[in-house]
Amino acid sequence: MLLLVDLDGVVYRGATPVPGMATLLGQRVAAGDTIVYVTNNSRWHRDEYHARLAGMGMPVSPDRIVTAARATALVLTEDGAMAVPDDGRRPTGGRPTAMVFGGPGLARELRDVGLRTVAPNGHGLEAAPDAVVVGVDFSLTYRRLTTAAEAIRRGARFIATNRDPVYPAADGLWAGAGSMVAALAVASGREPDVVIGKPEPRLFEAAAESVGEDPRRAIVIGDSLATDIAAANRLGARSVLMLTGVTTRGQLDAAPAAARPTAVAEDAAELSRVLDAMRD
Ligand SMILES: [Mg+2]
Repeated sequence: MLLLVDLDGVVYRGATPVPGMATLLGQRVAAGDTIVYVTNNSRWHRDEYHARLAGMGMPVSPDRIVTAARATALVLTEDGAMAVPDDGRRPTGGRPTAMVFGGPGLARELRDVGLRTVAPNGHGLEAAPDAVVVGVDFSLTYRRLTTAAEAIRRGARFIATNRDPVYPAADGLWAGAGSMVAALAVASGREPDVVIGKPEPRLFEAAAESVGEDPRRAIVIGDSLATDIAAANRLGARSVLMLTGVTTRGQLDAAPAAARPTAVAEDAAELSRVLDAMRD
């Protein structure tokens, strides 16, 4: 089986591993399952997740981690979004160029697939980027916002890694990529052309396709009804809601039938039983 496993709230909570998950996932790999880890986070390169997951004892290799940043890179190479004809518009020549309104991990993922990256500054604008790619941007400034909006007005595609308004940090909620997407949408007068992360299905599609599998045959394991389960349902994939993260039993009980997962697990032990029962 192909398991698309969400990270925060399923595999770990902040710096703390969820008890039993390393053992369970190791057993699933030994039994022949394929695991791809997925996250809406676009801040870090997958190498950084690899070190973190390996340090927690999870079965993992860098090619089995698909962040929203990695998925964005894969989608941009796949769907022809960057395969614009060399019409002379780009003064630097043929290589597709992305303006990165986000962090260095996102820029590195885009360069890994052969894209040229530029920053949201005057020099970047002169490069006439084909796309503006937006993730959580810890260097956010008025000038970066203004420049990225101008690039979109001049014809660059508007690509959002995700629309999460906030995300949990140790000291409260921090502004997510969706906050930057919203600012840019207002400033440019346009909504994103593409949104990659959950609850849109493209992250899961890219994760499944990265191992040559049909995304509709995947089992999504996530802790959020609003993102993980919503994306799985849009895709037509089965899902397991883990009650180890953001969604509570009460929220699950209140959810309409169309928003519910295929199965529910309180912890790693119950997840093991649920997955055994779902085996084709
Ligand atoms: Mg999660």
